[in-house]
Amino acid sequence: MARISKIAVLTSGGDAPGMNAAIRAVTRTALYNKLEVIGIKEGYRGMIEKLFIPLWSIDVSDIIQRGGTILKTARCMEFKTPEGRQIAYNNMKEIGVNGIIVIGGDGTFTGARIFNEEFDIPMIGIPGTIDNDLYGTDYTIGYDTALNTVVEAVDKIRDTASAHNRMFFIEVMGAEAGFIALRSGIAAGAEAIIIPEINNEIDKLNQLLESGRRQRASNIVIVAEGDKEGGAYKLANKVKERYPGYDIRITVLGHLQRGGSPSAFDRVSASRLGYAAVEALLDDQKSLMVGIQNNEIALVPFRKAIKLHKSVNQNLLEIADVLSS
Ligand code: ATP
Repeated sequence: MARISKIAVLTSGGDAPGMNAAIRAVTRTALYNKLEVIGIKEGYRGMIEKLFIPLWSIDVSDIIQRGGTILKTARCMEFKTPEGRQIAYNNMKEIGVNGIIVIGGDGTFTGARIFNEEFDIPMIGIPGTIDNDLYGTDYTIGYDTALNTVVEAVDKIRDTASAHNRMFFIEVMGAEAGFIALRSGIAAGAEAIIIPEINNEIDKLNQLLESGRRQRASNIVIVAEGDKEGGAYKLANKVKERYPGYDIRITVLGHLQRGGSPSAFDRVSASRLGYAAVEALLDDQKSLMVGIQNNEIALVPFRKAIKLHKSVNQNLLEIADVLSS
C-alpha cells in the first residue's frame, strides 16, 4: 500500500466536549509526520458536498479547551446510500486524501465500516460521544465532561430540594444506555438511579417510598432518558399518584450536558486517541477504532465496537444500591 501522505479528519453524529482536542491531536500528529491535513466540515455531508478546509498547526491552536467542534457535525442520510458514498469517495480521490479519521459514535463507525468494505481509503475511528456506549473502550471522549456537568447540576438541585424537603426526578441523557445516569448518580449521592438496563429499579424506588423514611429529607432520583417507564415525567407522575405525600419536582437536564469546556481527563484521552489514530493510519491499519482499555491504547475493529454490547458495571450497581440505603 502507498504510504499515507494526506489525511482528512471529520466529526460526526452528536457533538461531545473534547472533539476539538481530538482534532488538534490528529492535526498536529499528522503534521509532525509530514502529512497534509484536510478538515472536512459537517461530518459525512462534507465529504459529499466538498466542505473542505486545510488544517495547519495554527488552525488548531486555542481550541483544546473549547466544547463543540470547530469542524461542525451533522447527520447525513446520503452517506447511507451507495451512491452517496461513491460521491464521497470520488471527492476524496480528487483531492488526494489517502487516509480518513472519523470522530463520532456507533452510527459514524457503521458508515466507516461500510465505506472501508467498498473503497480503498482506510478509515480509523475515534470514540467521541457523551454516552460512553461503545464496546472496546473504557471511556469515550466527552463522557467525563458530561458526567461532571450532571453532577454539578444535581448538587445545585440538591440544595433547593433539601431546603423544601422535596423529591426531584432528574432526567439525564442516555437513550439506550444508563452509563451517565449510573455514574452521576453515585457521584451525586442519588437515592435512586433508574436506567434502561435494569428492570427492578422501580420496585426499589417503591420500597424506598413505602418505608417513608426519606420523607423529611431531600430525595434525588436520577432517570436515564431511555428508561423503560418513558423518562422522568412519566415516572414522576406515577409516583405522584401513588404517594401524594411527597412534594415532587422534575428537571430535564437536556442539551446542557453536551456543552462546556472539556475536563482534563477528556482532553488527555482525546490527545492520546488522536495521536493513536494517526499512528494507526501510518501502520497501514483500517476499519478500526482506537480505544482505551485499562489505560492502554487498544485497536478495536469497527465490527466489534458497533455490534458488541457494552454492559453496565455490576459492581457499580451494587455500590449505588448499598450507598443509597
Ligand atoms: P452519537 O452516538 O453521538 O449519536 P453517532 O455517530 O452514533 O453519534 P449517528 O447519527 O447515528 O451518530 O451517525 C452519524 C452519521 O453516520 C449518520 O448521519 C450517517 O451519515 C452515518 N451513518 C450512520 N449509520 C450508517 C449506515 N448504516 N450506513 C452508512 N452511514 C451511516
